[in-house]
Amino acid sequence: MKTYDVIIVGQGPAGMSAAIYASRANLSTLMIERGLPGGQLNNTEVLDNYLGTPFAKAMELAETMHKQALSFGAEEVYGEVITVEKVNDSFRVHTKKEIFEAKAVIVATGTQYKKLGISGEEEFAGRGVSYCAVCDGPFFKDKKIVVVGGGDSALEEADYLTQFGEVTIIHRRSSYRGQPLLQERVQRNPKIQQIMNTEVLEIVGEDQVEQIKIKDKSTNKENTLEADAVFVYIGQTPQTALLRKIPLIEVGGLLGPFSSQVNVLNHEEYVLRTNKKYMTHVPGLFAIGDILNKKVRQVANAVGEGAVAGQSAYEYIQRMFED
Ligand code: NAP
Repeated sequence: MKTYDVIIVGQGPAGMSAAIYASRANLSTLMIERGLPGGQLNNTEVLDNYLGTPFAKAMELAETMHKQALSFGAEEVYGEVITVEKVNDSFRVHTKKEIFEAKAVIVATGTQYKKLGISGEEEFAGRGVSYCAVCDGPFFKDKKIVVVGGGDSALEEADYLTQFGEVTIIHRRSSYRGQPLLQERVQRNPKIQQIMNTEVLEIVGEDQVEQIKIKDKSTNKENTLEADAVFVYIGQTPQTALLRKIPLIEVGGLLGPFSSQVNVLNHEEYVLRTNKKYMTHVPGLFAIGDILNKKVRQVANAVGEGAVAGQSAYEYIQRMFED
């Protein structure tokens, strides 16, 4: 079994930042990733709110981060981590194919896109239904594009998609959740129409998406809308299944009157508790980035959390394992 000081699960901005801090502190460091390094940066075109890189092409930034993350000696391996278990003072990180051992583990697995769960969504995935405007937008030149959702992602990607065709945003409420700046961008863009207070009931077509069925929630009237593409941006779910077996913690003291047991994950499977160093209740196990139960999910705070966790893993290993 190959052994490292630190294993980082996930190569998004949070994980790669942690790798820089850990490997630069001379810890033997392994990053494990099941997809492309860069995480959600690979689903975005331009990043205009990350300091120092105005209007950065997100995928190019991901490549630069990746090179930098490897430049202090961190290693990487392709694989999907199934579970993390603590054995004595160390961790065993199980991928589908191998088991690695480490003194500390930093989990930075990020989120994946939520599905609408309606008829036609699965059937037409890759044939008009998409969760990635950057990847699939170019297939819909001069076509009718629908974007579902009202958060930052929906607004940003709707604006981006207007370079290919006319875009209609469908949002289930009368006001958006996304940032005011992105709302203004959408309001100013003449190629965007907005249908508010409306839910999508079904995606319909023969071989490709052709129509969607919608319902106005204020009148309960159903309607159909011609569409060639449906981009679903209705939020994210954390990829934290690997932490499900982490043991419960006792809150409120040893079986005192207010004791209760809580999991490391909350009911939505976000990581509920870490300390200021991003260490969970399991000594040596850190959690950072979009899997945390927090309000702001940005590259900016992800890399900050990575820096703190990488440095704190170093301090933890010094304290626990060095004389
Ligand atoms: P989000 O902020 O959770 O927004 C999800 C949107 O989808 C909400 O408007 C929600 O409606 C709607 N929705 C949820 N479930 C739905 C369903 N079943 N059917 C129809 N609509 C549904 O998710 P996000 O936009 O993916 O953003 C995730 C995080 O990344 C946020 O923290 C965001 O700030 C961040 N982000 C930032 C940027 C940026 O700064 N440039 C860009 C992208 C993402 P309700 O409003 O009614 O709940």
